[in-house]
Amino acid sequence: MRSAKFLFTALAAAGMLAAQGQPPLAQRIAARLRPNDLKADVSFLASDALQGRATPSPGLEIAAEYIAAQFRRAGLEPVGDDGYFQSAAFQSVKPNPEGLEFTLDTANAEQGTVVIQEAVATDLNRAAAFKITLSDTAALDALTAEEVRGKVLLVEVPDVGGAGGGGMAAFQAQRRMLALAAKLEPAMVVMVRAAGQQSNPNARVPLRDATAPAPKVPVLNVWDKAIHDTVAAAQPGPMEAMVSAHIAAPIVQPVKLRNVAGVLRGTDAELKDTYVVVTAHYDHLGVRPNAQGDGIYNGANDDASGSASVIAIAGALAELEEKPKRTIVFVTVFGEELGGLGARWYTSHPIFPIAKTVADINLEQLGRTDDSEGPKVAQFNLTGFDYTDIAATFAKVGAVTGVQAIKHEKNSDSFFNRSDNASFADAGIPSTTLSVSYIFPDYHQPGDEWQKLDYDNLAKVDVTVALGILDMANSAQAPQWNKENPKTARYVQVREKQ
Ligand SMILES: [Zn+2]
Repeated sequence: MRSAKFLFTALAAAGMLAAQGQPPLAQRIAARLRPNDLKADVSFLASDALQGRATPSPGLEIAAEYIAAQFRRAGLEPVGDDGYFQSAAFQSVKPNPEGLEFTLDTANAEQGTVVIQEAVATDLNRAAAFKITLSDTAALDALTAEEVRGKVLLVEVPDVGGAGGGGMAAFQAQRRMLALAAKLEPAMVVMVRAAGQQSNPNARVPLRDATAPAPKVPVLNVWDKAIHDTVAAAQPGPMEAMVSAHIAAPIVQPVKLRNVAGVLRGTDAELKDTYVVVTAHYDHLGVRPNAQGDGIYNGANDDASGSASVIAIAGALAELEEKPKRTIVFVTVFGEELGGLGARWYTSHPIFPIAKTVADINLEQLGRTDDSEGPKVAQFNLTGFDYTDIAATFAKVGAVTGVQAIKHEKNSDSFFNRSDNASFADAGIPSTTLSVSYIFPDYHQPGDEWQKLDYDNLAKVDVTVALGILDMANSAQAPQWNKENPKTARYVQVREKQ
């Protein structure tokens, strides 16, 4: 840790200490960033009235309006296409089981043994089939488009039993399979299983970015016994048996979703056209009728705490007399719980140029200090701690406020792709997610309610976060990827092409 004297000099150089007669910057930010304001915002966003803020839902829309109102109060400049709103064109894509048919040679899948996973209208009449085994990763990797293009890929899924259907390894293998399918362009992918999948009563109709190319490869799950046995008995590779199938076109409906965006304009002639983005997701899991308790997933810590922090930090920085040199962009995003939809929309439809965006600081789960590992007071974690020099900035300002920026040895890297910072990283932008706790009691449970947060601690953390953001906004040197860490190579590559 650096000495206090060094810090004083460094802070003075960075313009972080006030001119004569003014209290220090940290104190002025703290005076405006009050625990009760955070409590007010979290308690509203996480109230039962908003019904868990599912994407999409009326509760999510109310949350968006509320956040926009707070940005208006703070005097942020609206930068969406509709005031503070960045509209996103999505579609709900509901599979249509009418006339669904799947035949392998003479075996016609019995009713109730086929479900559509990826709904693409399809008619196949005796198409060639090609068998692979999901567990044979080497063979999967070796597949070429020449081998399977236009054929039906029959994927034997190992029977691992259990309600979850195979755990993380099987899940990852399946995801890899689907990514491969998109590349290899088979006519269809069929996951052939020994047993039926439990239907998920909480399954929602899938959402799709309406501006992105629609998937071309249909995916079915089949567990008809005769078909399973035929596939299981066959050697991997081209099969003698032929496939016929009919999948009706899905029922597609437009869904409008919204990110909420406002900016605090930079004032430096050159740096004002560069951008520090601060994000948090304002959606959560909604209502699940068969859940314990009231079934409302309030999402107070996850992530009303991050959204309220964005509001509070924006308000505090907007009230300072001295304006930042770079422009600070505050964005709350939808659809994180469905796989980062809102952040992905932002980076594929950026309000400000990606190449001029110097960092994304994403805020998640900042309010609960009762981490499953034990109490976490006056500290926060950063994902990808060693990926960029961002952590060093927060460590520096944390030395002033007494809040520690911490590397969680186990979760720092493994959680890097588990929140909205990942979309920004994929776009080449140095990014991180700040969290006080990763896993806490009530994580993704109806009990994640606003009364359980530590608002005094949240305010202290947010003052530190605000100081760090301001430091980045005022520094001539933009945050950088750590090129010595091999895990950043793919992000650096994207960055250097911009
Ligand atoms: Zn979250």
